[in-house]
Amino acid sequence: MIPTDKDLWFLPLGGCGEIGMNLNLFGHNGSWLMVDCGITFEDSVTSRTGNRVEMPDPLFIANRHEALAGIIATHAHEDHIGALPHLWEQLRCPIYTTPFTRNVVARKFAQAGIRAPLVTVHPGETIEIGPFKVTWVPITHSTPETNGLLIDTPAGRVLHTADWKVDPAPVVGEPIQPKLFQSIGDRGVGRLSVIRRMHRSRVVRRRSLHFSMVCSRQCRRVLSALWSLASRATWRGSKPSATSLMWQDAILAC
Ligand SMILES: [Zn+2]
Repeated sequence: MIPTDKDLWFLPLGGCGEIGMNLNLFGHNGSWLMVDCGITFEDSVTSRTGNRVEMPDPLFIANRHEALAGIIATHAHEDHIGALPHLWEQLRCPIYTTPFTRNVVARKFAQAGIRAPLVTVHPGETIEIGPFKVTWVPITHSTPETNGLLIDTPAGRVLHTADWKVDPAPVVGEPIQPKLFQSIGDRGVGRLSVIRRMHRSRVVRRRSLHFSMVCSRQCRRVLSALWSLASRATWRGSKPSATSLMWQDAILAC
């Protein structure tokens, strides 16, 4: 399974169809690029053992780690970097990320006694990682220096946004830059995006509903989705629980 120079493959080993433990692969011209390497926690409702840490299975890329050009960490949340110190020995390649996330990752590696090559990249910078030309695109989220990635190859161009929100006045980080994303779209790009807002408390649910109601008066279009753990429970062969509901709100096109 080797991508040719005419291929641009997306292969998620974690994080799609589930919450957390993001691990995404892009394949082009014999090489792979990993975006994020995170953990998740075992569900406390269906688990009998508590909130154990879970990680994606890296076997596919571990078996061809010599073709892994690099790992990019989009931001410093655990579901995007938490598995790095646990899986790096199987991957053994440079890790690219911004200064804040680098510091968080470096501390994790130091605690694990691992020396891994960490490469600092600044928001807005473009670098080449194997056959991938990658531009760090500042994006609004709830942790400093969160970035989307414009991944450019002769076979195609993808904007991988990871976690993001549309917020002109965020508490942390820079506000969203609509013109920047418009210019990227004008150049022609495929978009991969994941929006996650998990809420379990009634207070947060009420706030979430209130936000949706306010937005519905001010926006032309609102999409709000309810996500249930029932699907995950079914995958695990467990009986779905009525109390295992989670909310996921996606607010679009404001
Ligand atoms: Zn995040």
